[in-house]
Amino acid sequence: VGEHGHGHDHLDATDGWCCDGRTYAEHASEGGHCCQAKGTSLDDLPDDGRAKAEARIAAATPEG
Ligand SMILES: [Zn+2]
Repeated sequence: VGEHGHGHDHLDATDGWCCDGRTYAEHASEGGHCCQAKGTSLDDLPDDGRAKAEARIAAATPEG
């Protein structure tokens, strides 16, 4: 099995989510400080951020 690309995001949401649809880990790694508290769940996000996050989850999840 040779498929080992980085074509899709690996979403590491163990630290929670950011208000702009990224994960806490992504935001923290880029800016060093996330606007949301560590461990913020999808339910705690504003509606627009939650929608973005759910879209990213859907895109990263193989259908079937
Ligand atoms: Zn953030």
